Amino acid sequence: MRPARAIVDLDALRHNYRIAKALHAGRALAVVKANAYGHGAVRCAKALGAEADGFAVAAIEEALALRDGGITAPILLLEGVFEASELAEVEAHDLWMVVHHLEQLQMLEAYAAKKPFNVWLKLNTGMNRAGFAPELARELHDRLLASGKVGKLTLMTHFARADEPDSDATAQQFARFRAGVAGIAAEHSVCNSAAILAWPAVRGHWGRPGIMLYGADPMPLDGGQLRPVMTLESRVIAVREIAAGEPLGYGARFVAERPTRVGLVAMGYADGYPRVVPTGTPVAVDGKPGRIIGRVSMDMLTVDLSGLADAGLGSRVELWGAQVPINAIAAAAGTISYELLCNVKRARLEYRGE
Ligand SMILES: *Cc1c(COP(=O)(O)O)cnc(C)c1O
Repeated sequence: MRPARAIVDLDALRHNYRIAKALHAGRALAVVKANAYGHGAVRCAKALGAEADGFAVAAIEEALALRDGGITAPILLLEGVFEASELAEVEAHDLWMVVHHLEQLQMLEAYAAKKPFNVWLKLNTGMNRAGFAPELARELHDRLLASGKVGKLTLMTHFARADEPDSDATAQQFARFRAGVAGIAAEHSVCNSAAILAWPAVRGHWGRPGIMLYGADPMPLDGGQLRPVMTLESRVIAVREIAAGEPLGYGARFVAERPTRVGLVAMGYADGYPRVVPTGTPVAVDGKPGRIIGRVSMDMLTVDLSGLADAGLGSRVELWGAQVPINAIAAAAGTISYELLCNVKRARLEYRGE
């Protein structure tokens, strides 16, 4: 069997959830959208099951997959419904939903609800992507409650720059939120992972941690407490010596300066490992620091075994995990850990700690 695999450590996931919840000092919805950032939504939700206060997903398809998987905890639709026909499913499956624009609110008002919905009214405090003006919070709150379609209403916003501790954008967004919701008797939800980690003065009743659950710190500085959940790994499937001056791989992107022992690894961009990373990008070979040389191809990549005398055929190569921080690979690829994790495919997902 091809040795490319992504090992998901569910103990680490639970550990990170506990940190999120303790730091936030309130309830926390575990964000498991996009197949739990590539980790497998049902397996992750089940692993958190007993202790998670609930879950959050991007759309009803993701919520229904969790319900089909036996998850009975609250599930919030972070973007609410996309069309009125989804409301019957939201009702039937007891889902919670965000309302972030007027058409959604009108769909809800027009729906013949059998029981009241749990609605999260989203306010735009500076992201300028989704949500109502905070000045409308009172009026919309009253209008939603008056519709008789809403049993519980939570007020929420989302931060654009919480991962920048030196910017005052988050404090400003929070101040706008507080001003908009002042005097309204409702629970609040404002924090994503970065806000939970970097903004202790900014809290609501419900946290919404995502990336930190998977052990990737969204800040440039590593907090150190989180444990990586995914280990992307494979094995050396062939070894070859190339002489000084010889090229390696597509485009001859690497040319050996000295005799070089090359390990061929079963991992490529079709597994979700980014093609754009340069020579020198870190890997761990049998636990020792190593580096990629040459272009990453679809099914394979090549590593330098020259200084690793004990390494050879069958050596374990970690692409990211406890030894190779995913943030280092994200930096090498010019992206963020989120995108790398969501892109993992083909490599087998295996679970530990169930
Ligand atoms: C995805 C998402 C989150 C989680 O964000 P992280 O940065 O992964 O913690 C929280 N809130 C909303 C509205 C989201 O869409």
